[in-house]
Amino acid sequence: MPSSPRVSSPSAQADEPASSAARALSAHFKRGSTKSLSWRLSQLDALEHFLMEREQDILDALHADLRKPPLEALTSEIGVPTSELRLARKKLAAWMKPERVRTPLLLMPARSYVYREPLGVTLIIAAWNYPFQLIVLPLIGAIAAGNCAALKPSELAPNVSALLAKWIPKYLDRDAIRVVEGGIPETTTLLQQNWDHIFYTGSARVGRIVMEAAAKHLTPVTLELGGKSPCIVDESADLETTAKRIVYGKFFNAGQTCVAPDYVLVHDRVHDALVNRMVSTIREFYGDDPKQSADLSRIVNEQHHARLRRFLDGADIVTGGQTDPSERYVAPTIVKNVGEDDPMMQEEIFGPILPVISFSSVESAIGFVNRQAKPLALYLFSRDEAVQDLVLAGTSAGGTAINHVWLHVGVPELPFGGVGESGMGAYHGRHSFEVFSHRRSVLKKGTLPDAPLLFPPYTARKMRWFKKLF
Ligand code: NAD
Repeated sequence: MPSSPRVSSPSAQADEPASSAARALSAHFKRGSTKSLSWRLSQLDALEHFLMEREQDILDALHADLRKPPLEALTSEIGVPTSELRLARKKLAAWMKPERVRTPLLLMPARSYVYREPLGVTLIIAAWNYPFQLIVLPLIGAIAAGNCAALKPSELAPNVSALLAKWIPKYLDRDAIRVVEGGIPETTTLLQQNWDHIFYTGSARVGRIVMEAAAKHLTPVTLELGGKSPCIVDESADLETTAKRIVYGKFFNAGQTCVAPDYVLVHDRVHDALVNRMVSTIREFYGDDPKQSADLSRIVNEQHHARLRRFLDGADIVTGGQTDPSERYVAPTIVKNVGEDDPMMQEEIFGPILPVISFSSVESAIGFVNRQAKPLALYLFSRDEAVQDLVLAGTSAGGTAINHVWLHVGVPELPFGGVGESGMGAYHGRHSFEVFSHRRSVLKKGTLPDAPLLFPPYTARKMRWFKKLF
């Protein structure tokens, strides 16, 4: 971590008017200061100071919004951005270097390059489930690529939103990076403005609203959406390990994770054995009364709590099922005998309820997955490489982990993003720098006279020469 703190005077503006954000940032971007390597590095340093020095405030805000266990918050909301920040700082000079590419013989003598230039003013809109990480991670990409950015945290995580509005202007260049708090009216006002890129994380429903607004200005968008991420368990899986990993991946943040296993498709020969092991793993992780466990988050608000409760009406509950609206608590729940047309199979569950559905062949599991929209993640637990190949070839997903849940998201070299209904565009690691950069083609030539072949009059002889050159 860099040595000196860079907190600016407490007079920094916490509230930025939504209506003038793009214009103000655009005027600043045109001055050009955000393009230099030194500005980018200084902002990445300052962002790291923010994460380190305000760690407890960040953990407290996440606990207040979602009752996030500090260890989950530390790893997913602070740890992930910290390692991405360090990677960006280390690699930035190399990423920014113009990339030399081959020039065809016909165009010689010349040199060709791809320059990465900042897109300009960017708008980053985040969801509430990882309300800190989902602002900071894209911001690392926006800064690394030399952009200005307006940050719109989710109003459904008000403590994190207020924390970002308070501290970001004190650590970062407030002419270039602004936080705009608010709900739908403020987001709508932001979306009406002319941005050079919009980076949105949230539901597909709002993703459509974002894309429609962006179309008016021909603004490119990255949409980080969600969906129903399946988890296939075939009969060759190691059930002990599988149960542990699925329970961990599902109930982390109380199931409010875009890449959480949404439902399990398990081979009917191992259905009961897997369910029994998952039940005992839940007890091992969260105790006999998970409500007393400090390691289980709460549901974000009453509306989502009520939505989850409705899924449980008439459900065949194996374990869990208890709810308490006063605490927005839903017990880690496993449900069996779930049909394809069951209400909980019609939308992303986004809560601690895990339906388990059995299949009789891998082909039928693939068929089931392919009747749904393309998911953000697909998980396969199988020790059979032929089955692994079959599932990879037969399905499509934003990303996949084999024999684990969502660990692929932690590999910065792997692009993180959806496909089809689960999103467009990807980030993390170098991909975050790329998503906020324009790849500008540059050909450099000297002033040696061009071959007369190029210019009119276009004779038959020139035609013959050209045919030989291609
Ligand atoms: P949300 O309600 O916090 O909305 C996200 C953002 O959209 C907020 O900033 C909100 O102000 C804005 N918004 C909401 N309604 C709007 C409207 N009508 N017009 C304009 N702006 C509006 O979050 P959410 O949509 O409930 O997020 C949950 C979804 O996000 C899930 O589907 C989840 O899978 C997905 N998600 C995806 C990722 C990812 O990285 N791919 C990460 C987290 C969550």
